Amino acid sequence: MKEKKVRLTTKIFIGLIAGVVFGLFANSFLPTDFYNVIEKWILSPVGTIFIRAIRMLVVPLVLISLTCGSAGIGDPKKLGRVGGKTIAFYLTTTAIAITIGLLLAFIISPGSSISIPTDVEYQAAEAPFIMDIFVNMVPTNPINSMAVGEMLQIIVFSILFGISLAAVGKKAQPLLDFLHTANDVLMKMISLIMTIAPFGVFALIAKVIATQGADVLLPLIKYMLTVLFALFLHTILTYTGALSVITKANPITFFKKFAPTMVVAFSTSSSSATLPVTMETAEEELGVSNEISSFTLPLGATINMDGTAIMQGVATVFIAQVFGVDLSFSQLLMVILTATLASVGTAGVPGVGLITLSMVLQSVGLPVEGIALIIGVDRILDMTRTAVNITGDAICSIVVANSEGEFDRQRFNNISEG
Ligand code: ASP
Repeated sequence: MKEKKVRLTTKIFIGLIAGVVFGLFANSFLPTDFYNVIEKWILSPVGTIFIRAIRMLVVPLVLISLTCGSAGIGDPKKLGRVGGKTIAFYLTTTAIAITIGLLLAFIISPGSSISIPTDVEYQAAEAPFIMDIFVNMVPTNPINSMAVGEMLQIIVFSILFGISLAAVGKKAQPLLDFLHTANDVLMKMISLIMTIAPFGVFALIAKVIATQGADVLLPLIKYMLTVLFALFLHTILTYTGALSVITKANPITFFKKFAPTMVVAFSTSSSSATLPVTMETAEEELGVSNEISSFTLPLGATINMDGTAIMQGVATVFIAQVFGVDLSFSQLLMVILTATLASVGTAGVPGVGLITLSMVLQSVGLPVEGIALIIGVDRILDMTRTAVNITGDAICSIVVANSEGEFDRQRFNNISEG
Protein backbone atom coordinates (compact mmCIF):
# COMPACT_ATOMS: atom_id res chain seq x y z
CA MET A 1 0.00 0.00 0.00
CA LYS A 2 2.77 2.41 1.00
CA GLU A 3 4.86 1.57 -2.03
CA LYS A 4 1.89 2.21 -4.27
CA LYS A 5 1.52 5.65 -2.68
CA VAL A 6 5.08 6.66 -3.35
CA ARG A 7 4.76 5.59 -6.95
CA LEU A 8 1.58 7.61 -7.31
CA THR A 9 3.31 10.68 -5.87
CA THR A 10 6.07 10.36 -8.43
CA LYS A 11 3.54 9.89 -11.19
CA ILE A 12 1.67 13.05 -10.19
CA PHE A 13 4.91 15.01 -10.47
CA ILE A 14 5.69 13.46 -13.82
CA GLY A 15 2.19 14.51 -14.93
CA LEU A 16 2.88 18.06 -13.80
CA ILE A 17 6.23 18.37 -15.56
CA ALA A 18 5.04 16.63 -18.73
CA GLY A 19 2.03 18.99 -18.77
CA VAL A 20 4.28 22.06 -18.56
CA VAL A 21 6.62 20.77 -21.27
CA PHE A 22 3.81 19.77 -23.58
CA GLY A 23 1.97 23.08 -22.97
CA LEU A 24 5.06 25.12 -23.84
CA PHE A 25 5.67 23.02 -26.92
CA ALA A 26 2.06 23.30 -28.08
CA ASN A 27 2.05 27.04 -27.47
CA SER A 28 5.15 27.67 -29.56
CA PHE A 29 5.17 24.98 -32.22
CA LEU A 30 1.80 23.31 -32.79
CA PRO A 31 -0.52 24.82 -35.41
CA THR A 32 -3.58 26.25 -33.65
CA ASP A 33 -6.02 24.00 -35.50
CA PHE A 34 -4.10 20.90 -34.58
CA TYR A 35 -3.80 21.98 -30.96
CA ASN A 36 -7.53 22.73 -30.80
CA VAL A 37 -8.28 19.16 -31.84
CA ILE A 38 -5.99 17.80 -29.12
CA GLU A 39 -7.59 20.09 -26.57
CA LYS A 40 -11.11 19.20 -27.58
CA TRP A 41 -10.61 15.46 -27.75
CA ILE A 42 -8.02 14.81 -25.07
CA LEU A 43 -7.00 17.62 -22.73
CA SER A 44 -10.40 19.09 -21.90
CA PRO A 45 -12.24 15.78 -21.39
CA VAL A 46 -9.46 14.17 -19.32
CA GLY A 47 -8.96 17.27 -17.15
CA THR A 48 -12.67 17.77 -16.65
CA ILE A 49 -13.31 14.12 -15.80
CA PHE A 50 -10.62 14.30 -13.12
CA ILE A 51 -12.01 17.49 -11.57
CA ARG A 52 -15.57 16.23 -11.72
CA ALA A 53 -14.59 12.91 -10.16
CA ILE A 54 -13.07 14.53 -7.10
CA ARG A 55 -15.73 17.22 -6.86
CA MET A 56 -18.29 14.43 -6.85
CA LEU A 57 -17.10 13.52 -3.36
CA VAL A 58 -16.97 16.99 -1.85
CA VAL A 59 -20.56 17.44 -0.68
CA PRO A 60 -21.01 13.92 0.78
CA LEU A 61 -17.57 14.08 2.32
CA VAL A 62 -18.09 17.44 4.03
CA LEU A 63 -21.51 16.39 5.28
CA ILE A 64 -20.44 13.01 6.59
CA SER A 65 -16.96 13.79 7.85
CA LEU A 66 -17.93 17.01 9.55
CA THR A 67 -20.90 15.33 11.21
CA CYS A 68 -18.65 12.49 12.41
CA GLY A 69 -16.02 15.04 13.43
CA SER A 70 -18.37 17.14 15.54
CA ALA A 71 -20.12 14.08 16.97
CA GLY A 72 -16.74 12.54 17.76
CA ILE A 73 -15.55 15.62 19.56
CA GLY A 74 -18.92 15.29 21.23
CA ASP A 75 -18.49 17.33 24.34
CA PRO A 76 -19.70 20.82 23.32
CA LYS A 77 -16.96 22.34 25.45
CA LYS A 78 -14.29 20.52 23.49
CA LEU A 79 -15.99 21.37 20.23
CA GLY A 80 -16.04 25.03 21.22
CA ARG A 81 -12.36 24.84 22.13
CA VAL A 82 -11.32 23.11 18.89
CA GLY A 83 -13.56 25.42 16.85
CA GLY A 84 -12.18 28.49 18.61
CA LYS A 85 -8.57 27.45 18.04
CA THR A 86 -9.24 26.59 14.41
CA ILE A 87 -10.98 29.84 13.57
CA ALA A 88 -8.39 31.89 15.51
CA PHE A 89 -5.59 30.18 13.60
CA TYR A 90 -7.28 30.70 10.25
CA LEU A 91 -8.04 34.38 10.82
CA THR A 92 -4.60 35.16 12.23
CA THR A 93 -2.69 33.50 9.40
CA THR A 94 -4.93 35.20 6.85
CA ALA A 95 -4.26 38.62 8.37
CA ILE A 96 -0.51 37.85 8.37
CA ALA A 97 -0.81 36.78 4.73
CA ILE A 98 -2.38 40.06 3.60
CA THR A 99 0.16 42.04 5.59
CA ILE A 100 3.00 40.21 3.81
CA GLY A 101 1.26 40.88 0.48
CA LEU A 102 0.81 44.59 1.25
CA LEU A 103 4.38 45.04 2.46
CA LEU A 104 5.91 43.37 -0.58
CA ALA A 105 3.64 45.30 -2.93
CA PHE A 106 4.84 48.56 -1.38
CA ILE A 107 8.48 47.52 -1.57
CA ILE A 108 8.36 46.19 -5.13
CA SER A 109 5.81 48.74 -6.43
CA PRO A 110 4.57 46.56 -9.30
CA GLY A 111 2.04 49.11 -10.57
CA SER A 112 4.13 52.24 -10.75
CA SER A 113 5.30 51.79 -14.35
CA ILE A 114 2.09 50.55 -15.96
CA SER A 115 -0.19 52.51 -18.22
CA ILE A 116 -3.86 51.56 -18.20
CA PRO A 117 -4.87 49.39 -21.16
CA THR A 118 -8.21 50.36 -22.58
CA ASP A 119 -8.99 47.21 -24.51
CA VAL A 120 -9.83 44.96 -21.57
CA GLU A 121 -13.41 44.56 -20.55
CA TYR A 122 -14.51 43.61 -17.09
CA GLN A 123 -18.01 43.48 -15.78
CA ALA A 124 -17.74 44.67 -12.22
CA ALA A 125 -19.50 42.24 -9.92
CA GLU A 126 -21.64 43.59 -7.14
CA ALA A 127 -19.55 43.57 -3.95
CA PRO A 128 -21.24 41.39 -1.31
CA PHE A 129 -22.48 43.08 1.89
CA ILE A 130 -20.33 41.78 4.73
CA MET A 131 -23.16 40.77 7.09
CA ASP A 132 -24.78 38.76 4.31
CA ILE A 133 -21.90 36.31 4.54
CA PHE A 134 -22.98 35.46 8.11
CA VAL A 135 -26.72 35.48 7.43
CA ASN A 136 -26.31 33.20 4.42
CA MET A 137 -24.38 30.68 6.46
CA VAL A 138 -27.64 29.40 7.95
CA PRO A 139 -29.50 27.19 5.49
CA THR A 140 -33.25 27.24 5.18
CA ASN A 141 -33.22 23.93 3.37
CA PRO A 142 -30.12 21.75 3.82
CA ILE A 143 -31.07 19.48 0.94
CA ASN A 144 -31.02 22.49 -1.34
CA SER A 145 -27.66 23.58 0.12
CA MET A 146 -26.27 20.17 -0.78
CA ALA A 147 -27.83 20.21 -4.22
CA VAL A 148 -26.23 23.53 -5.10
CA GLY A 149 -23.03 22.94 -3.10
CA GLU A 150 -23.35 25.85 -0.63
CA MET A 151 -20.42 24.81 1.52
CA LEU A 152 -20.83 27.18 4.46
CA GLN A 153 -24.46 26.14 4.84
CA ILE A 154 -23.55 22.47 4.69
CA ILE A 155 -20.90 23.12 7.34
CA VAL A 156 -23.37 24.79 9.71
CA PHE A 157 -25.90 22.00 9.23
CA SER A 158 -23.30 19.24 9.70
CA ILE A 159 -21.85 20.72 12.88
CA LEU A 160 -25.29 21.09 14.45
CA PHE A 161 -26.26 17.61 13.30
CA GLY A 162 -23.06 16.17 14.78
CA ILE A 163 -23.51 17.93 18.12
CA SER A 164 -27.10 16.70 18.34
CA LEU A 165 -26.04 13.18 17.41
CA ALA A 166 -23.60 13.17 20.31
CA ALA A 167 -26.23 14.65 22.64
CA VAL A 168 -28.73 11.89 21.82
CA GLY A 169 -26.07 9.39 22.86
CA LYS A 170 -26.47 5.62 22.85
CA LYS A 171 -29.66 5.61 20.84
CA ALA A 172 -27.95 7.42 17.96
CA GLN A 173 -24.99 5.03 17.90
CA PRO A 174 -26.24 3.01 14.89
CA LEU A 175 -26.51 6.19 12.84
CA LEU A 176 -23.03 7.23 13.89
CA ASP A 177 -21.65 3.80 12.98
CA PHE A 178 -23.36 4.06 9.61
CA LEU A 179 -21.79 7.49 8.98
CA HIS A 180 -18.34 6.24 10.02
CA THR A 181 -18.65 3.37 7.56
CA ALA A 182 -19.79 5.75 4.82
CA ASN A 183 -16.77 7.89 5.62
CA ASP A 184 -14.44 4.93 5.14
CA VAL A 185 -16.10 4.11 1.83
CA LEU A 186 -15.63 7.69 0.64
CA MET A 187 -11.95 7.55 1.57
CA LYS A 188 -11.62 4.39 -0.51
CA MET A 189 -13.25 6.17 -3.42
CA ILE A 190 -10.69 8.96 -3.13
CA SER A 191 -7.82 6.46 -3.39
CA LEU A 192 -9.48 4.99 -6.45
CA ILE A 193 -10.00 8.32 -8.17
CA MET A 194 -6.46 9.39 -7.36
CA THR A 195 -5.11 6.68 -9.63
CA ILE A 196 -6.09 8.88 -12.59
CA ALA A 197 -4.58 12.00 -10.96
CA PRO A 198 -1.35 12.00 -13.02
CA PHE A 199 -3.37 12.13 -16.26
CA GLY A 200 -5.76 14.74 -14.90
CA VAL A 201 -2.88 16.92 -13.72
CA PHE A 202 -1.14 16.58 -17.07
CA ALA A 203 -4.24 17.57 -19.03
CA LEU A 204 -5.15 20.54 -16.84
CA ILE A 205 -1.64 22.01 -16.76
CA ALA A 206 -0.97 21.44 -20.45
CA LYS A 207 -4.15 23.27 -21.37
CA VAL A 208 -3.41 26.31 -19.20
CA ILE A 209 0.16 26.67 -20.43
CA ALA A 210 -0.73 26.05 -24.07
CA THR A 211 -3.52 28.61 -24.13
CA GLN A 212 -2.02 31.31 -21.91
CA GLY A 213 1.48 31.43 -23.39
CA ALA A 214 3.92 34.15 -22.46
CA ASP A 215 2.17 37.06 -24.24
CA VAL A 216 -0.46 37.70 -21.58
CA LEU A 217 2.08 37.33 -18.86
CA LEU A 218 4.82 39.73 -19.87
CA PRO A 219 3.33 43.18 -19.16
CA LEU A 220 2.19 42.05 -15.76
CA ILE A 221 5.24 40.08 -14.83
CA LYS A 222 6.15 42.36 -11.92
CA TYR A 223 2.69 42.01 -10.40
CA MET A 224 2.82 38.26 -10.83
CA LEU A 225 6.26 37.96 -9.31
CA THR A 226 5.19 40.06 -6.32
CA VAL A 227 2.22 37.76 -5.66
CA LEU A 228 4.34 34.64 -6.16
CA PHE A 229 7.08 35.95 -3.89
CA ALA A 230 4.55 36.85 -1.19
CA LEU A 231 2.99 33.37 -1.46
CA PHE A 232 6.44 31.85 -1.11
CA LEU A 233 7.35 34.01 1.90
CA HIS A 234 4.09 33.23 3.65
CA THR A 235 4.61 29.52 3.12
CA ILE A 236 8.18 29.64 4.35
CA LEU A 237 7.78 32.09 7.23
CA THR A 238 4.28 31.57 8.57
CA TYR A 239 3.65 27.89 7.87
CA THR A 240 7.12 26.58 8.45
CA GLY A 241 7.33 28.81 11.52
CA ALA A 242 4.02 27.58 12.95
CA LEU A 243 4.93 23.98 12.31
CA SER A 244 8.38 24.05 13.82
CA VAL A 245 7.74 26.48 16.67
CA ILE A 246 4.30 25.34 17.81
CA THR A 247 4.38 21.63 17.03
CA LYS A 248 8.15 20.99 16.73
CA ALA A 249 7.44 18.94 13.61
CA ASN A 250 9.87 18.91 10.71
CA PRO A 251 8.65 21.17 7.87
CA ILE A 252 10.68 19.27 5.28
CA THR A 253 8.85 16.06 6.15
CA PHE A 254 5.60 17.98 5.89
CA PHE A 255 6.32 19.33 2.43
CA LYS A 256 7.62 15.97 1.20
CA LYS A 257 4.36 14.36 2.17
CA PHE A 258 2.06 17.19 1.27
CA ALA A 259 3.55 18.18 -2.10
CA PRO A 260 1.39 15.84 -4.22
CA THR A 261 -1.73 17.33 -2.63
CA MET A 262 -0.41 20.79 -3.50
CA VAL A 263 0.00 19.63 -7.10
CA VAL A 264 -3.65 18.55 -7.16
CA ALA A 265 -4.68 21.97 -5.80
CA PHE A 266 -2.41 23.67 -8.32
CA SER A 267 -3.90 21.84 -11.25
CA THR A 268 -7.54 22.06 -10.17
CA SER A 269 -7.40 25.66 -8.81
CA SER A 270 -9.96 24.63 -6.25
CA SER A 271 -9.52 24.10 -2.51
CA SER A 272 -12.91 22.57 -2.38
CA ALA A 273 -12.23 20.05 -5.14
CA THR A 274 -8.93 19.15 -3.49
CA LEU A 275 -10.54 18.62 -0.08
CA PRO A 276 -10.92 14.84 -0.35
CA VAL A 277 -7.23 14.52 -1.16
CA THR A 278 -6.21 16.96 1.59
CA MET A 279 -8.19 14.94 4.11
CA GLU A 280 -6.75 11.64 3.07
CA THR A 281 -3.19 12.99 3.23
CA ALA A 282 -3.74 14.63 6.62
CA GLU A 283 -4.98 11.41 8.14
CA GLU A 284 -2.85 8.83 6.39
CA GLU A 285 0.41 10.72 6.05
CA LEU A 286 0.49 13.66 8.42
CA GLY A 287 -0.82 11.89 11.51
CA VAL A 288 -3.82 14.13 12.18
CA SER A 289 -6.65 12.31 13.95
CA ASN A 290 -9.82 11.77 11.97
CA GLU A 291 -11.78 13.79 14.51
CA ILE A 292 -9.63 16.88 14.10
CA SER A 293 -9.04 16.64 10.36
CA SER A 294 -12.70 16.11 9.60
CA PHE A 295 -13.49 19.26 11.53
CA THR A 296 -10.65 21.61 10.56
CA LEU A 297 -10.17 20.76 6.88
CA PRO A 298 -13.69 21.14 5.45
CA LEU A 299 -13.93 24.39 7.39
CA GLY A 300 -10.54 25.52 6.09
CA ALA A 301 -11.29 24.64 2.48
CA THR A 302 -14.28 26.93 2.77
CA ILE A 303 -13.20 29.85 4.92
CA ASN A 304 -9.39 29.87 5.00
CA MET A 305 -7.76 31.35 1.91
CA ASP A 306 -4.38 32.82 2.78
CA GLY A 307 -3.17 32.68 -0.82
CA THR A 308 -6.26 34.49 -2.02
CA ALA A 309 -5.81 37.14 0.66
CA ILE A 310 -2.22 37.68 -0.47
CA MET A 311 -3.33 38.18 -4.06
CA GLN A 312 -5.98 40.63 -2.89
CA GLY A 313 -3.46 42.63 -0.85
CA VAL A 314 -0.99 42.87 -3.72
CA ALA A 315 -3.73 43.53 -6.28
CA THR A 316 -5.19 46.38 -4.22
CA VAL A 317 -1.83 48.15 -3.96
CA PHE A 318 -1.11 47.40 -7.62
CA ILE A 319 -4.42 48.87 -8.78
CA ALA A 320 -3.97 51.89 -6.51
CA GLN A 321 -0.53 52.49 -8.03
CA VAL A 322 -1.76 52.11 -11.58
CA PHE A 323 -4.54 54.62 -10.96
CA GLY A 324 -2.20 56.91 -9.03
CA VAL A 325 -4.08 56.64 -5.72
CA ASP A 326 -2.21 56.89 -2.41
CA LEU A 327 -3.60 54.58 0.24
CA SER A 328 -3.64 55.95 3.78
CA PHE A 329 -2.76 53.84 6.82
CA SER A 330 -6.39 53.52 7.86
CA GLN A 331 -7.27 52.42 4.34
CA LEU A 332 -4.63 49.73 4.59
CA LEU A 333 -6.16 48.50 7.85
CA MET A 334 -9.48 48.44 6.03
CA VAL A 335 -7.87 46.30 3.31
CA ILE A 336 -6.61 43.84 5.94
CA LEU A 337 -10.07 43.61 7.49
CA THR A 338 -12.07 43.29 4.30
CA ALA A 339 -9.62 40.93 2.62
CA THR A 340 -9.78 38.65 5.69
CA LEU A 341 -13.57 38.64 5.45
CA ALA A 342 -13.43 38.31 1.68
CA SER A 343 -11.30 35.24 2.12
CA VAL A 344 -13.95 33.77 4.43
CA GLY A 345 -16.57 34.53 1.80
CA THR A 346 -14.52 33.22 -1.14
CA ALA A 347 -15.73 29.82 -2.23
CA GLY A 348 -12.95 27.32 -2.81
CA VAL A 349 -13.48 27.18 -6.55
CA PRO A 350 -11.45 28.62 -9.43
CA GLY A 351 -11.27 32.35 -9.83
CA VAL A 352 -13.66 33.46 -7.09
CA GLY A 353 -10.90 35.38 -5.32
CA LEU A 354 -10.98 37.87 -8.15
CA ILE A 355 -14.69 38.47 -7.64
CA THR A 356 -14.43 38.99 -3.90
CA LEU A 357 -11.55 41.37 -4.63
CA SER A 358 -14.24 43.82 -5.72
CA MET A 359 -15.39 43.99 -2.09
CA VAL A 360 -11.87 44.93 -0.97
CA LEU A 361 -11.43 47.55 -3.69
CA GLN A 362 -14.79 49.13 -2.95
CA SER A 363 -14.05 49.34 0.75
CA VAL A 364 -11.22 51.76 0.01
CA GLY A 365 -12.87 53.50 -2.93
CA LEU A 366 -10.68 52.06 -5.67
CA PRO A 367 -12.19 51.48 -9.13
CA VAL A 368 -13.44 47.91 -9.41
CA GLU A 369 -12.64 48.07 -13.13
CA GLY A 370 -9.00 47.72 -12.06
CA ILE A 371 -9.68 43.99 -11.89
CA ALA A 372 -9.69 44.00 -15.69
CA LEU A 373 -5.96 44.71 -15.57
CA ILE A 374 -5.05 41.54 -13.76
CA ILE A 375 -7.68 39.16 -15.04
CA GLY A 376 -5.43 37.92 -17.85
CA VAL A 377 -2.80 36.53 -15.53
CA ASP A 378 -5.11 35.37 -12.81
CA ARG A 379 -5.28 31.75 -13.89
CA ILE A 380 -1.66 31.00 -13.08
CA LEU A 381 -1.90 32.92 -9.81
CA ASP A 382 -5.15 31.18 -8.94
CA MET A 383 -3.41 27.83 -9.27
CA THR A 384 -0.54 28.87 -7.05
CA ARG A 385 -2.65 30.56 -4.38
CA THR A 386 -4.95 27.56 -4.18
CA ALA A 387 -1.94 25.38 -3.34
CA VAL A 388 -1.11 27.85 -0.55
CA ASN A 389 -4.72 27.97 0.62
CA ILE A 390 -4.87 24.25 1.28
CA THR A 391 -1.39 24.18 2.81
CA GLY A 392 -2.68 26.63 5.42
CA ASP A 393 -5.58 24.28 6.15
CA ALA A 394 -3.27 21.29 6.61
CA ILE A 395 -0.89 23.21 8.88
CA CYS A 396 -3.83 24.31 11.02
CA SER A 397 -5.06 20.74 11.32
CA ILE A 398 -1.64 19.65 12.61
CA VAL A 399 -1.37 22.57 15.04
CA VAL A 400 -4.85 21.97 16.45
CA ALA A 401 -4.37 18.17 16.59
CA ASN A 402 -1.10 18.69 18.41
CA SER A 403 -2.70 20.97 20.99
CA GLU A 404 -5.43 18.39 21.60
CA GLY A 405 -2.98 15.50 21.93
CA GLU A 406 -4.31 14.01 18.68
CA PHE A 407 -1.23 14.36 16.50
CA ASP A 408 0.41 11.03 15.69
CA ARG A 409 4.02 12.12 15.48
CA GLN A 410 5.25 8.69 14.57
CA ARG A 411 3.01 8.52 11.55
CA PHE A 412 4.07 12.04 10.55
CA ASN A 413 7.75 11.13 10.72
CA ASN A 414 7.35 7.80 9.01
CA ILE A 415 8.56 8.25 5.42
CA SER A 416 8.03 5.26 3.21
CA GLU A 417 10.90 4.39 0.93
CA GLY A 418 10.52 3.87 -2.77
N1 ASP B 1 -9.29 29.10 -6.33
C1 ASP B 1 -9.16 29.48 -4.97
C2 ASP B 1 -9.40 28.28 -4.09
O1 ASP B 1 -10.16 27.41 -4.41
C3 ASP B 1 -10.07 30.59 -4.58
C4 ASP B 1 -9.65 31.83 -5.30
O2 ASP B 1 -8.73 32.50 -4.82
O3 ASP B 1 -10.19 32.14 -6.35
O4 ASP B 1 -8.82 28.15 -3.05
